[in-house]
Amino acid sequence: MTTRYFRRYHCQLCGSRELTLILSLAPTPPANAFVPESALGEEQECFPLDVFHCEQCHHTQLTDVVDPAVLFENYVYVSGTSPAFVRHFEDYANTVIDRFAPPGDGLVVDIGSNDGTLLRFFQNAGMTVLGVDPAKDIAATATAEGIETMPQFFTPVLAREIMDARGKVSVVTANNVFAHADDLKSIAEGIATMLAPGGIFVFEVSYLVDVFEDVLFDTIYHEHMAYHAVGPLQQFFRGIGLELFAAERIPSHGGSLRGYVQLAEGQHEHDGSVENLLAVERALKLDSSATLKEFGARIDKLGQTFTGMIRELQAAGKTIAAYGAPAKATTLLYHFGIAPGTLEFIVDDSPLKQGLFSPGLHIPVVPAEILLEKQPDILVILAWNFAEVIMEKNAAFAEKGGRFLVPVPEVRLYP
Ligand SMILES: [Zn+2]
Repeated sequence: MTTRYFRRYHCQLCGSRELTLILSLAPTPPANAFVPESALGEEQECFPLDVFHCEQCHHTQLTDVVDPAVLFENYVYVSGTSPAFVRHFEDYANTVIDRFAPPGDGLVVDIGSNDGTLLRFFQNAGMTVLGVDPAKDIAATATAEGIETMPQFFTPVLAREIMDARGKVSVVTANNVFAHADDLKSIAEGIATMLAPGGIFVFEVSYLVDVFEDVLFDTIYHEHMAYHAVGPLQQFFRGIGLELFAAERIPSHGGSLRGYVQLAEGQHEHDGSVENLLAVERALKLDSSATLKEFGARIDKLGQTFTGMIRELQAAGKTIAAYGAPAKATTLLYHFGIAPGTLEFIVDDSPLKQGLFSPGLHIPVVPAEILLEKQPDILVILAWNFAEVIMEKNAAFAEKGGRFLVPVPEVRLYP
């Protein structure tokens, strides 16, 4: 054990120690730990990537907790660089405002607010906004651009400070951070502390049902401690004086869950959506570790198809590059055992990643212009959730004879 990570022996949501190992993925460095050229000589530490199921509340989770300072303080993911996410957040803010009509001058706090993309839409609607995000550089930039952002981890102490300084909060949002953080109990307690009567807490997380059904195993990486389902969450919130009163499936990240939470016995009515999703989860038997263990075999099958195709292409003398350097690419490349050198480069649209090298395997990340310059034969779409958009955008590459290889949810070659 190093000082940079520890293994937790109890369930993240209910505290039970009855945890069953359901899946061991290949150990990886932190999935977003891109490195500059000057650090290429240093080997990056890999951490275990084991998934456990709680036999008490049926929550699915990682138990190897990498120091959040390692993961998040120098974070390079900026949501505003992805047009699809900007649109997503615009719809998100509009939905919350239309459906729950928070007070027009109410306060919105976004936990894990990143560059403030979501908050900007609430601000445009006239509400007061405050971001909280430990990524110092991104928080500073957001503040400079008019979205005040506290460069901190969200804790019950901070919740009290926010409330003392600004009053109760009408809308709290937390997207993916609810999967990112280890100590969800303290985050939920903080939210319960500062939430106004009638206020709502909205969160988005990747949904275990989608991860399981579509074999989205590469969404499993150290930043994602939790693979949430409605059943365990409902019970968890109840224990903190909160109530999950509505939930819906949304397409982000290949399939996510959006939950709506209020203080216990709040005014917002249940619409049956929570019960509907509970029925879906029961039908899939996601409360059984035996069901979840089948997952490994399905991942192996996908991996064999993918690596088999890569080997064939290499044997035929094809050159291969990749498009998109999302965090999930790290899990996929390591678990499928893609050797360094297999991919010549990775194209990514984020200027923050360009010029850096991928975590551990040190594949260079380059801007889109390089693609047509080098014109490899095959482009593996690692950001497969944007496969259609990426193929459309790179029609010129295909016109010159390039082909796209999409690895997940099934291995497909286009054209
Ligand atoms: Zn549990």
